[in-house]
Amino acid sequence: MSQVQVLPAVTAFLQRDHGHFINGKMLQADDPTKIDVVNPATEAVISQISLGNHIDVDKAVTSAHQAFKTSWAVTTPYERGQKLLKLADLMEKYGEELAQLESLSTGKLINLARQLEVQQSVIFMRYFAGWATKITGKTMQPSLPSMQGELYTAFTLRQPVGVVAGIVPWNFSLMIGVWKLASALCTGCTIVLKPSEFASLSLLRLAELSVEAGIPEGVINVVTGDGTTGQCLIESPLVKKVSFTGSVPTGIAIGKLAMSSDLTRVSLELGGKNALAIFEDTNIDEILPRLLMATFVHQGQVCAAPEKFFVHASKYEELVTKLAGALRGMNIGAAMDESSAFGPLSNLPHFNKVKNYLEQVKQRHQIIVGGEVCDRLGYYVEPTLLAVNDAEDPLLNEECFGPVICIIPFENEDRLVEQMNHARFGLTASLWTNNLSRALRLIPKLEVGTVWINMHTFLDPAVPFGGVHASGMGREFADEFIADYTETKSVMMCY
Ligand code: NDP
Repeated sequence: MSQVQVLPAVTAFLQRDHGHFINGKMLQADDPTKIDVVNPATEAVISQISLGNHIDVDKAVTSAHQAFKTSWAVTTPYERGQKLLKLADLMEKYGEELAQLESLSTGKLINLARQLEVQQSVIFMRYFAGWATKITGKTMQPSLPSMQGELYTAFTLRQPVGVVAGIVPWNFSLMIGVWKLASALCTGCTIVLKPSEFASLSLLRLAELSVEAGIPEGVINVVTGDGTTGQCLIESPLVKKVSFTGSVPTGIAIGKLAMSSDLTRVSLELGGKNALAIFEDTNIDEILPRLLMATFVHQGQVCAAPEKFFVHASKYEELVTKLAGALRGMNIGAAMDESSAFGPLSNLPHFNKVKNYLEQVKQRHQIIVGGEVCDRLGYYVEPTLLAVNDAEDPLLNEECFGPVICIIPFENEDRLVEQMNHARFGLTASLWTNNLSRALRLIPKLEVGTVWINMHTFLDPAVPFGGVHASGMGREFADEFIADYTETKSVMMCY
């Protein structure tokens, strides 16, 4: 046991009367209603946040609009990049604070909060900062007829769309918030973030750091609240783009709302029911640690993580035995305990959802390991391995978003591809093989946004990310985000 001491700065932050971060400062909320922030490892209320209403949202959007038209519009791309780099430095400086806030409010293991949530957010922020000076248009030569010797030329400008609404889920609040914030700011947009009611604290703290980074007031705003707050934000006529990450049903509702709100542009990163396939040429001992990491990182509450394992029949028994052994030996413990390998689920509604999923699958399939709620305080469920009795069961295509592996043997490659594609989602997939020809043959057949070979789940800012089918619309990262945050303006000239 190695319990981390809560920093005095974190204790003080938790005890604050949190309003919304608008126009460079924390403002009192219009509505006095508070939402409890519960530590999922202890079920104790550790803080409270405000429930944003349309008055708070109007203030935030107006301040973002003002900043877009005045301060941020006259900042050079170089300065924008520098300010994002400064913010990244401050995230590093206050990294332990941010990590503890995430861990205490979402049950993320403290080491994961430090190394993935905070450190990767810093890397993403620096990556996007680099883009600020590299956003360019194109030149073209028109073929219009020249009656009197006149000549033509044309070029395009990429101009920021304006105020972005960034709606963030609870699983990686800081990191997903940074994806949206940094994409917006480097392209010249300003932003209003709406974190999940279950994970708002780290983004409120990040917004405060933006003042120290010299980012002008109004450029970054955070309004806390629930789905109604997010809805007010999307309906605002000053919001020109919605960037949403979350569940499929909410994403579909948001897409419709954005379209009916004067065709506000929208990108949607939604859920998945991701599959992986393990072939007969793999060495199970070698891949086991990577499989466990990819699947159980943050207790499986990762949209990109695999939930269905298709395993070649010749490796099935070996994998089941070794996975079962590893799961039985996992150290389940508090998120703020550095020795824990597996923590609680993030919040009560999600805990109930996973519990209900387990009840249903238990009636139809065979539990090899786990399948139960842990007998302790907090929202803990056991890491679970499930042998599938009926591969056609629709439950196997429902996202669990928790620590549950469904394991299914396969023999035939064509049938495997059919089964991997048999879902309304298409976010990620992976192939575990040392046979390069097979990997290259199968990659184009998989209907997903990302295919990994001998790895799964982990994202890099240089590699585009997004889903097909019900897993979303649009791509984040690399140069693919630029078109979403900017409008192309065409200019034609006669001389
Ligand atoms: P939700 O869809 O429930 O919520 C996402 C965000 O939307 C939250 O901030 C939520 O607020 C807000 N929201 C809810 N209803 C509305 C509404 N009607 N209008 C506007 N905003 C609304 O998802 P979760 O937070 O539960 O996150 C889990 C889901 O996110 C999983 O399905 C997972 O697959 C997906 N996800 C996808 C990722 C990807 O990149 N593809 C990455 C991470 C998660 P509040 O929470 O306060 O209700």
